[in-house]
Amino acid sequence: MATRPESVITVCCSDIAGQVRGKGFPAADLENRRRFGVGWTPTNIMINCFGRIPATPFGAEGDLMLVPQPGGDIRLPYDDGTPAEHIILGDIMTMAGTPWDCCLRGLLKRAIAALEAEAGLRLIASFEHEFWYAGGEERPGDSYAASSLRGMEGFIGSFLAALRANDIAPDTFLPEYGPRQYEITIDPAEGRKAADQAVKLREICRSLARRHGSHASFSPVVTPGIVGNGVHIHFSLIDLAGKPVCYEPGRPGGMSEICASFCAGILRHARALCAVTAPSVISYERLKPHSWSAYYANLADRDREALLRICPYPEIEGVDVAKRYNIEYRGADATASPYLQLAMLVFAGLSGIREALPEPFISSGDPGRWNATERAERGIGDLPHSLDEALDALEADIAATTWLGPVLTKAYLMHKRGEIEMAGDTGLEDLCALYARAY
Ligand code: GLU
Ligand code: MG
Repeated sequence: MATRPESVITVCCSDIAGQVRGKGFPAADLENRRRFGVGWTPTNIMINCFGRIPATPFGAEGDLMLVPQPGGDIRLPYDDGTPAEHIILGDIMTMAGTPWDCCLRGLLKRAIAALEAEAGLRLIASFEHEFWYAGGEERPGDSYAASSLRGMEGFIGSFLAALRANDIAPDTFLPEYGPRQYEITIDPAEGRKAADQAVKLREICRSLARRHGSHASFSPVVTPGIVGNGVHIHFSLIDLAGKPVCYEPGRPGGMSEICASFCAGILRHARALCAVTAPSVISYERLKPHSWSAYYANLADRDREALLRICPYPEIEGVDVAKRYNIEYRGADATASPYLQLAMLVFAGLSGIREALPEPFISSGDPGRWNATERAERGIGDLPHSLDEALDALEADIAATTWLGPVLTKAYLMHKRGEIEMAGDTGLEDLCALYARAY
């Protein structure tokens, strides 16, 4: 007797390691699973990107529910007779049905709710991703070259179609500067949805690459010494009526007072933020001077080496600049959970609004041409130069640890310090190879 193959739905979270993990059940049980999800355990959040748990504050105890959320679906039907790949992003809840302290998606929801309640603002964001595609062809001189898309049409076509089918609108797909390096940008979305989309995009890309017999990696550095893969987080603010509030012509950089305070909050906490936005040992191989990523805690107008960059907009008639005006945070990569990245940016920005911080100095050109005192006079700080340094900065930043809460702060620092220890004295080449496979 021929039986029809059953499909499985996997409820997943994007965790401290930036990995998408979860548990599956027969698709036919979905309605029942919407209430209680699947069983989860606190120590799962301590599994690092090497697949190990060097230490855990939770031990073997405790139970949680990973509950599928509306809008969390990633559906990839491959039309080849096999059941569709179906993931649903979920929230981690306690057995009493309250959000768990270490649910990163829940943390982002709290950040967004605080922004709305305290400042009457909503966040619009889009994650811009660079990645390396094994199936790309390499030839000398092929940076941005049309030729480097050749032979990849099948992958690109199905990747973009799958994004669209999952309610993510592709904006551009391009050959990047590095060998086999590509970039995908998508239309912005509101708050939590923007982070959901980033999680989905990475999974969709990896799945499609595999279907095409290849491998995609979002690791910040695939080959040491070669330009890295960044995640640039574009953001802007709207009021509760949906009116954009970041642009104000005539002010420095065209930036409104409220947006300037938001940016100032991010810059003030930049060192701690790096611990969650660039959270792997090799993240700091990317954040080097003159690498078009970010090296100082600065704001600049249309400069690709600033931590915060005022993005360009067409200065031609008929363009609604206020709608396009956005800021880009360039110190992020894909070894982090987008939920955690965005949550901490929002908390930091909101703290700047709360204290009505004055607008940051808008730098132009390389801040490295000034000495440390001259930079400090302009309010430009140094970013951490290693994960170790970033974690110390996070631990020392009382506000940042308050946003995370004591349970998550402890778990996060333990998780990441364990990762550093495991990386140990592995050579850079081998370490990059490991991360390239993990991400
Ligand atoms: N690859 C650069 C990075 O690591 C970004 C290059 C660009 O401006 O697109 O962030
Ligand atoms: Mg790029």
